[in-house]
Amino acid sequence: MEEKENQNQRNDFGTQLEPEVRAKLEFKPDDWLCMLCTKKITSDKDRFVFNNKSEFQFVNPGGYFFDIITFCVADGCQEEGEPTMEFTWFPGHSWLFTFCSRCGSHLGWKYHGEFSFYGLIKSRLIKGAARFN
Ligand SMILES: [Zn+2]
Repeated sequence: MEEKENQNQRNDFGTQLEPEVRAKLEFKPDDWLCMLCTKKITSDKDRFVFNNKSEFQFVNPGGYFFDIITFCVADGCQEEGEPTMEFTWFPGHSWLFTFCSRCGSHLGWKYHGEFSFYGLIKSRLIKGAARFN
């Protein structure tokens, strides 16, 4: 009887650890995750270099500053709305809003033109490495 209770305790402990182990398998240190829900959005190896840079600072018409990182692909993103050229930050490229496909957080914009890429807001992402500390 006593032995059986000990067995149960061990099982409970194992179940508690499981979600953390699973989370670590979902992403790598060089991945970028959604700040709100930690879904993997993209990775440093997918950075898109535009005019020799992959990080930019822009001001929108409302006067807000955004630190942007550009990526070729961002599988964790989902676009919404119609593309527009209005106030575009990348000449000749239209944009539309892009959101986290899991929690719906606004993460940045997808651009179409000579190149097709994502401009994601740095402060709305978290580096996978930060979750390993
Ligand atoms: Zn999210």
